[in-house]
Amino acid sequence: MIVNTRFAPSPTGLLHVGGARTALFNYLWAKRNCGRFLLRFEDTDRARSSAEFEGAMLRDLEWLGILPDGDAARQTDRAARYSEALAELCRLGFAYACFCPPEEGGVTRPRADKCRFMPEGERARRMASGEHFCLRFAAPQGDGDFIFRDRLRGDLSVKLSSIGDFVLARSDGSPTYLFAVVVDDHDFNVTHVIRGEEHLPNTPKQELVYRALGWETPEWVHIPMVLDSGRHKLSKRSGAISVASYREDGWPPEALVSYMATLSWAGAPDDAISGADALAAAFDIGSVSLDSPVHDQERMNHFGKMAMRCLSVESLLSEFRALFPEPPDGGADIDSDRAALIGELLPSCACKSELERSIGEAFLLRDPHEQGGPADEAWARDLRETLSSVAPEAWCSENLKNILRGFQKERGLKGKDLYHCLRMRLTGVGHGAPIALVMGCLGKGNTMGRLGSRVEEKGVTL
Ligand code: GLU
Repeated sequence: MIVNTRFAPSPTGLLHVGGARTALFNYLWAKRNCGRFLLRFEDTDRARSSAEFEGAMLRDLEWLGILPDGDAARQTDRAARYSEALAELCRLGFAYACFCPPEEGGVTRPRADKCRFMPEGERARRMASGEHFCLRFAAPQGDGDFIFRDRLRGDLSVKLSSIGDFVLARSDGSPTYLFAVVVDDHDFNVTHVIRGEEHLPNTPKQELVYRALGWETPEWVHIPMVLDSGRHKLSKRSGAISVASYREDGWPPEALVSYMATLSWAGAPDDAISGADALAAAFDIGSVSLDSPVHDQERMNHFGKMAMRCLSVESLLSEFRALFPEPPDGGADIDSDRAALIGELLPSCACKSELERSIGEAFLLRDPHEQGGPADEAWARDLRETLSSVAPEAWCSENLKNILRGFQKERGLKGKDLYHCLRMRLTGVGHGAPIALVMGCLGKGNTMGRLGSRVEEKGVTL
């Protein structure tokens, strides 16, 4: 069987993790079956839809590696096709013109029935006179149940009386979402409709339209909604973090993909980073759990850190070289110390902007006098002398580590006294990357400058 899935967002906001996870599951299922993953913009709400949001969604999907097969379709391009399908429904006796005034919650049965069972002559006369009308679906009536099947939930039943004669097209002729989706999914041979469970109430109505038109119904797969920490639906409107902002913060896209795959799919690896295509090989839509997953930034950070560790330190160095202080005198191999510093900082960063901040902080000289008292022991003077005798070309973290170790031993100093004091002098912060590495990256001139800069200023020894 050929599998075609689709992602059908309304371009009314930025893509967030919930929507992107729906796209991902559709992509994974299509690719798992060597099928096609289609993209369709449901832009019939002209007031809220925009080309900017379409462009942003396309960029986000491309960045995530969730690439649609073929060009994106757009509902506003398909008006003629919807009219044709509406005409067919009218011809088959499944649609009728209703003259009731538009109401938010639809029209109650007895009122709709007045239009549904109106003599045809009267209907034709009122339509010809220019009176406003919408087109409603003539849903089956009676006390029975309507049964439809969801892949994850099995057979579901709703009372026929609860379905009602829903609107297919508004009085301006524009199709409703309920109807347009059916025509689109049929025309594009969509075999699996994988979407959020909030669409479950629409499904019996849509299936009725399929049946009325004699079209084959796709397989329905309603996946649980991603919730926020307050257990509300994660939505663009509830301020969910957009995929675009993760991209701007320099998250590796595989981190998002790997994390999103775990939202309801127990088979997704929890301790490895994979791209969408690698995940597709093992994906099974039937094993998606019905429990609503909660978006957990901490867990996402875990994936971010794993993915950051997969990046090449060399390429990160070329990206962030400008953040390192320029040493006036060079050094033995300053780039290898810079790369080592990146390697030190990387494991605690979930995205590039965190790494950028950490590199910046490693060299940001905070005021040491706020952080702790200065050292004024005699050894401090001697250490300055020892360090100033190191030739600039021998200035590298490996040598500095040995020099500091030798100095500590010779003077019988406690590590805390030497390293902490040095760290405070050089960075103003009592923790961070190994101090020899920081000194290697600073270079001799900058290090000596920092060690000496406060001599006159504060009258301290180091
Ligand atoms: N346009 C709908 C939405 O953004 C999706 C409709 C569907 O998947 O059938 O929620």
